[in-house]
This record gives sequence, structure tokens and C-alpha cells, in this order.
Amino acid sequence: MDAEGRLLEDLDPDQLGAVTAPRGPVCVLAGAGTGKTRTITRRIAYLVDRGHVAPGQVLAVTFTKRAAGEMRTRLRALGVSGAQAVTFHAAALRQLRYFWPRVVGDAPWELLDGKLRLVGQAANRVGAPTSAESLRDLASEIEWAKASLVTPDDYPVAVSKARRDVPLPAEQISRVYQGYEQLKTRARMLDFDDLLLHTAAILEEHSDVAVEFRDRYRCFVVDEYQDVTPLQQRVLDGWLGGRDDLTVVGDANQTIYSFAGASPRPLLDFPRRFPEAVVVRLERDYRSTPEVVSLANQVIGAARDRPAGSRLRLIGLRPPGPVPMFSEFDDEPTEAQAVAERVGALLRNGVAASEIAILYRVNAQSEAYEQALTEKQIPYQVRGGERFFARPEIRQAMMSLRSAAGGAPTAELPTVVREVLKPHGLSLEPPTGGAQRERWESLLALVELAEELDSVTPGADLARFVGELEMRAEAQHPPTVEGVTLASLHAAKGLEWDAVFLIGLTDGTVPIQHADTDEAAIEEERRLLYVGVTRAREHLWLSWSLSRTAGGRRSRRRSRFLYGLLPEDHPAARSIGGASREAGPARRAVRVECRVCGDALTSTPAIKLGRCATCPSDVDEELLERLKKWRAARAKQLRVPPYVVFTDTTLTAIAEQRPADTGGLVAISGIGPSKLDKYGADVLALVKGGAGVGST
Ligand code: ATP
Ligand code: MG
Repeated sequence: MDAEGRLLEDLDPDQLGAVTAPRGPVCVLAGAGTGKTRTITRRIAYLVDRGHVAPGQVLAVTFTKRAAGEMRTRLRALGVSGAQAVTFHAAALRQLRYFWPRVVGDAPWELLDGKLRLVGQAANRVGAPTSAESLRDLASEIEWAKASLVTPDDYPVAVSKARRDVPLPAEQISRVYQGYEQLKTRARMLDFDDLLLHTAAILEEHSDVAVEFRDRYRCFVVDEYQDVTPLQQRVLDGWLGGRDDLTVVGDANQTIYSFAGASPRPLLDFPRRFPEAVVVRLERDYRSTPEVVSLANQVIGAARDRPAGSRLRLIGLRPPGPVPMFSEFDDEPTEAQAVAERVGALLRNGVAASEIAILYRVNAQSEAYEQALTEKQIPYQVRGGERFFARPEIRQAMMSLRSAAGGAPTAELPTVVREVLKPHGLSLEPPTGGAQRERWESLLALVELAEELDSVTPGADLARFVGELEMRAEAQHPPTVEGVTLASLHAAKGLEWDAVFLIGLTDGTVPIQHADTDEAAIEEERRLLYVGVTRAREHLWLSWSLSRTAGGRRSRRRSRFLYGLLPEDHPAARSIGGASREAGPARRAVRVECRVCGDALTSTPAIKLGRCATCPSDVDEELLERLKKWRAARAKQLRVPPYVVFTDTTLTAIAEQRPADTGGLVAISGIGPSKLDKYGADVLALVKGGAGVGST
């Protein structure tokens, strides 16, 4: 974070225009990293410094606590104290506490922290589903409706008008919404949305309160205005009361909350609403290297629905830096390890841990990274989401696993764990709903840990597994002051780091699977990637893996948003190794050579095969057939999909290399100690010409 210098120093002419504009409407429409947040904080400081407004008369609002904190830090650095920089909700809560007694009397109210309990009661009454996931989905719908100023009665029409995908029949959601409101009123409670609703209503209906409020606050500033909801806009209008002392800044290309009712329309229409407004467009990107900026331009340039007024092309002003790296991995654990290695390398090169972020689409993705960083003893903080082992579904799952741990083992560990987690929502196929999917992913992460333990320590039982989980939970708990940031893309908005890792970029994650049917939702996912890319000052890494688990089926594809960005001949399958390298093509730490032509191998399947994909294969077709038959029989016996026994690539490698002994077997990448134990004898017998099956 830079210490902002003197008030008008280090501002370009356009920024200066916005900072020094006379009191009145100002609108900054600009791309990421162009200095919007800098401009508004300077503007506040400037207006205060020139005596145009007292610090206490300024109300600056934004959408996340973290972004509000960032504004306060910058204001403090500029020597401004007493100006409020808070979230919409915090501002409303404060005003309501103050005005409520006067308007409503001493009827007390309580803030309802979390809707789920009341939503559950309401759902129960009308016979709607009450599973934890359904309740979360219902709560999201109620939040969307309230943010969009939609009443329970209007809900069904409103969703069809907005062409919104709903998790349950709209009529049913409407009844739950109605019931929820009644229960809440009866309990004399207000939820977070009510804070805004009541604030707006009081300002609209009680002129004495409005007069007092407007006398107190005279100058309004909104950051990230592209994500304003109709409800927030109504509050803002209540604050203004027809005045126009309002500065807004935003980037329509960073609208990432429209699923929650936000819309960039007020930002884009601002110049029409206030024809006398000073409108500034910024194009110089001060945050990122030209390499990062160019990638950002490509990501957003491919957008299909950019509204007029949002078509800005960023120009990178910083000196050149490393090219963004694209890396493909066989599986998630490998990806996480590679990222942790790379983070370690950056730290050794003097990059501060707090200047590094790992960003992902869904919170469930964090576990592998928490683990990989813990193993390397790299401190980290999880932002905007709970640490993996603190999540309610994981705590509940751990309880069930613990109580099941006493019994005698009935099957292999991963199978046992799957069984225990089934009632918690671990279905065979991933569910489509948002909250439900998140939960499913978290539970699946536990099964993966079981698979990992099982392959390292074959025969490990449930008690051992629970012990292992508890150790992990412990290790991931020590509080950290400074550390690498782990955050969702949503939580990263407005922030910046020297090095940013965008991980897990597969189709189905970015864009998220449940966006798949809806073009507008896909476009929001693209903007989310743009937000991610533009967080990086210098180092940017984009990665994905083809399979979820080690040795799993490599059935995933990289994100469709990456297709235009990677040249078609780009060796997408890459891994990293060299610790001190800053840029350039990725290499493995150990050079692996093709046993046919001697060239270095870079792609993971090639490394497994031990030869380039284009070099002639010397596979023993007959042996391969026998291996496949054996695998099918084994898989059936173990009741697992065949690839769990061996992947096709590994079978091909065996049929090519025809290992004669255990040493030859483990030299084939993909065959570790546990596979050796389980299948080694069979495979060696098959290679020698035997049948292999039945040696169990
Ligand atoms: P976002 O859209 O991501 O919120 P933003 O437009 O708010 O981005 P800022 O965070 O204000 O951008 O600025 C990005 C970075 O560029 C910050 O580190 C800021 O200090 C720096 N910066 C902005 N303007 C200038 C300038 N004129 N000279 C030097 N550095 C600048
Ligand atoms: Mg900003």
C-alpha cells in the first residue's frame, strides 16, 4: 500500500480534474487500476482542505468492509480524520439506531444476524424443502428480492421479468418470503436489508428527520458504484434529498453482483441524470504492468454484452514485467503444490507475504491451498470465507466421522468416508444449486483427503483418518498476522497485490457450472475473471488441473475464457520448478527426456509416457489389451471406476516399457508405493505373460 503523498501530487490531468471539480455531481467511469479509489479519497481530502466541507459532513460508502477499510487507510494517510468511510449497511445501522427512538418510539428491535433459522420455520410452514442448502438458496432469493425492492406478492412476476433462474417454484419462494417477513416482524427483528429499507422509509416519510440528517451530511461519495442495488440507490436518494453533491466512481466491467440485484445502470446513466456533472474517463492503468494490462484488455474485450460507455481500453503505465504464466496440471493437489512452491520462490525473492494472493471462484477450493501452504510453513489468511475446518458442514461431517470411527472397517477408507458423508449431502453427482454445490465440494475435499491417506498409508482406518484431520485442523489454525491472502474473486474486488495466482480455472468453475444456461450469468463470470486479472501489479499466474484427484480421470477442460488468450500451439500442459525464475516459459525442476528422441518433456501425459506424444509408440498392443481386461476385473472387484486402478496413460506406459521388476514399475510416473503394494505383483505377472487376475 503506498503512502499517498501530498494532496495533488501524482495525479494525472484527468484525475486532477475530478479531484478539484467544484462541489456538485462528479462521475468517474474508468477501468480497473486507473486510480478511481485514489481519486475519490483525494477529492474528499481536497474538499476538506479547501474548507468546502467539514470532515464530519462527508459520507463515503462502498460495498465491502475490506474496501471501506482501504478507503479509511488512504484517508488517514492524507491526514483526513472524521470523515466517515463505511459500507452502506454500516451507515444505515448507525442512522437507524439514532433516529429509531424518535420515529418509532421505544419499541426495541434486534438485528437478525443470519436469516436461516426464520427462513427454516417459514419454509416448514408452507411445505418447502428445509435442507441446509435449500434454506441458503431461499435466503439468497429473499435477499435478491429485497435488494431489488420486490415484495413477496410481486416476486413471481419479478423473477420471470428478470429471467432469473430460481431454485424452487417462484410461488413457493414467494410464500416462504412472506412467512419469513411475518415471523421476523413478530419477533421484533430487523435483517440487514431492513436496515436499508427502514432508513430509506424514515428519510422519505419524516421530514424533520430528513432535515436534520441532510444538515449533518452534505457531501456523498460512492466507490464501486457499478454494484449498487435498487435498495441502496433508494437510500442514497434519501440521503441526497434532491441535492447533487455526489461523487461516484465505478467500472461497469467489474459488475459482479448482478446475481444479487446490483446493476451498473445508475453509474452509466449518471451523466444523463445530472447533465451538469463533471464526467471523467480514465484509461491509464497505474496498477499493473503492460503485460497484465494487455491480458486484462483481452479478457474483457471478448465480453459479449458490454454496455455503451464501458468500452474502455486500458493503457499500462508501469515498466514491463514478467509475462503472465499459464499452467496446466494433471490434478488439483499437484496444482496446489506448484502454487505453494512458486509462492515460496517469490518470498525468497523478497516479495512480502502480504503482497501475494491466491484467488478462487468458490470457497471450497481453498482447502488444497491451505494444506499446501501449511506444509511449506507459509503463513496465510483466508478472506471473505471461513477456513476450511471452521465451515459448519465440515464441523458436522467431522462429528459424524468421529462417531463412526469406533466400528470395524467394512471397506477401503475412501469408500467408508463416502458412506458416512452421504447423509451430509455428498451425492454421487454434483448438485447444481449454488450453496448446495459449495457444500458438496467441501465434503468431496474430505474424501480426497481420505484417498490421499489411503494411498500413502494403505489400510489406514477411519480412526486414523479422523486423527489426521484433527492434526490438519490444528496446523491450519494458528492465528497469522501477516500472510498470503486466500480469497474468493468476489472478495478481492478493489484490492491489489504484487503477485496474484488465479487457480482452478476450469470450465464448470470459471464460469461456474450453474451459470451455464444463461448468457448473462456467463458474462458476469467473465467479468469476475477480469476482476481477478486486474488485481495483479506484477506477477500473474493462471492455472487449472484436468482432474480433481491425483491419478483421477483427466476429464476437465480449461476455462472457455482462456481459449482466446492462449495461442493454440501453446504448450498448455506445463509445470513449474525453477525457484529463482521470474518469468518466461515454465520448466520442470528435473529435466525429463523422451526415451525415443531425447527431447525435454514438458507436458504431464508425455512425462508419464516417457516420450513425446508425437514420437512413435512402441506399445505392446497385446499386453495393453490384457492390462485393460485385468483393470476392468479389478475395478469391478473393488467397485471403483477403472481409472482409480490405473489411468489409460499409465497402462500405456506399462505396455510400452514392460517393466521386469519393482524398480521398473515405480520408475513409471503414476505408480507410487500404494499402487505398487496393491497391484505390483499382478502387473509384473501380466508383463511376464501371466493372467494376473486372481492374485488377490
Ligand atoms: P479498481 O477498479 O480495481 O478499484 P481503482 O481505479 O480504484 O481500481 P486505485 O486502487 O485507486 O485504482 O489505484 C490503483 C493503483 O495505482 C494504486 O496503487 C494507486 O496508488 C496507483 N495510482 C493511481 N493513480 C496514480 C497516479 N496518478 N500516479 C501513480 N500511481 C497511481
Ligand atoms: Mg478502487
